[in-house]
Amino acid sequence: MAGLTVAALLANSRQAEALRLTVIDSAPRPSFDPDDDIALRVSAIANGSADILDNIGAWDTAVSTRACPYEHMRVWDGADDSDGASTLKFDADEFAVPQLGFIVENLLIQDAILKVLDKTDVSLRFDTPIAAIDSAGGTYRVQLEDGREMDADLLIGADGARSLVRESAGIDVTRRPYAQTAFVTHLRPQESHGATARQRFLDDGPLGMLPLADGRISVVWSTTHETARQAMAASDEELGSMLTEASDQVLGELVAAGPRGTFPLCAQHARNYVLPRLALIGDAAHAVHPLAGQGANLGLADASTLSTVIEEAIKKGEHPGDRPVLRRYERARKGANATMLHLMTGLNQLFAAGSPTIGELRRAGMRLFNVSGPLRERAVKVALGAGRQ
Ligand SMILES: Cc1cc2nc3c(=O)[nH]c(=O)nc-3n(C[C@H](O)[C@H](O)[C@H](O)COP(=O)(O)OP(=O)(O)OC[C@H]3O[C@@H](n4cnc5c(N)ncnc54)[C@H](O)[C@@H]3O)c2cc1C
Repeated sequence: MAGLTVAALLANSRQAEALRLTVIDSAPRPSFDPDDDIALRVSAIANGSADILDNIGAWDTAVSTRACPYEHMRVWDGADDSDGASTLKFDADEFAVPQLGFIVENLLIQDAILKVLDKTDVSLRFDTPIAAIDSAGGTYRVQLEDGREMDADLLIGADGARSLVRESAGIDVTRRPYAQTAFVTHLRPQESHGATARQRFLDDGPLGMLPLADGRISVVWSTTHETARQAMAASDEELGSMLTEASDQVLGELVAAGPRGTFPLCAQHARNYVLPRLALIGDAAHAVHPLAGQGANLGLADASTLSTVIEEAIKKGEHPGDRPVLRRYERARKGANATMLHLMTGLNQLFAAGSPTIGELRRAGMRLFNVSGPLRERAVKVALGAGRQ
């Protein structure tokens, strides 16, 4: 998502004529068929990210095809009631916006951006794994697995958490594995999801329940590796019972109704985002806990900032790959991403702390947060704005 977005932003920019853009991806070209069932991977897309996708002309396709707007958010402590005084409640009305965000399939977003890219001069190379990267004489040489080579004046590494670009360039990361795996599936709830994104914090990790366009919910259950393994192996009936219990029946009985998958979770941050002629964006630069659904949003904000920096540099006659130019991008994004990363790690730890005293303090803090106007407003502004601060 991050790589396609930066390519589309640059291809549609006023400086597009000065650029020759190539997207290289080891995976096959993503393709979306509306007749297919809702795919396993969905993302909560904040209004700010929708604006970025709108700038490149991809949002209308995504939103009109199969996106579920959510108007309410409820976050509560597993030891409390979903409707208790400590439950964090956010409603679109209160912030004078039609919705707080949208739940959209990752595949649909990629497909919508690709439809835009198809109308540009960007060269798209799917099924093309990169084998190695060398820097020589001020450019990067990309060696493809099929033996071909390409030179780049600027290499943007948008190749995910295990980025080869990052590793080959020798950029270190700070990494902190969570003792959790995310189990993901769709379920049919007995009661209507009411266009509400829900999160229940349990001792083993948060259970996210996101509304889908067809009335089902997408569940992201960050839990112990063992529970995730059991959920994968469970029969549909067993899985329904496990998640009905984990959700405290907030939507009544949950019935298993979709594919399943697990994802390892870790907090990761690259020490640098840029080197001369090279920039990292998206998960290649940072991986955050999915508990607040921010990873893809941060990647889209990176793409937007980087494309603006490149566009402005070309306008001023600067080389977009020069380090002082790329540092403008790094300065604009690294702090904001670090804040989100620490916040997600801290929240996850705070809720996982088993001590009853910490639990009581936590709930008291949540009750306080509920009556603190400015703090709530700030939190929602950040969440609505795709992590841009
Ligand atoms: C369970 C779960 C739920 C989540 N929910 C949300 C959510 O609700 N909202 C949200 O904003 N975020 C969410 N996230 C995070 C979000 O999914 C990621 O942040 C986002 O997908 C990262 O996108 P990206 O484009 O940076 O990287 P990726 O999606 O990892 O893309 C990397 C690309 O690089 C290619 N590539 C890799 N190596 C090579 C190579 N050697 N050669 C060529 N190509 C290569 C890959 O094929 C891939 O296409 C969630 C994450 C998880 C695990």
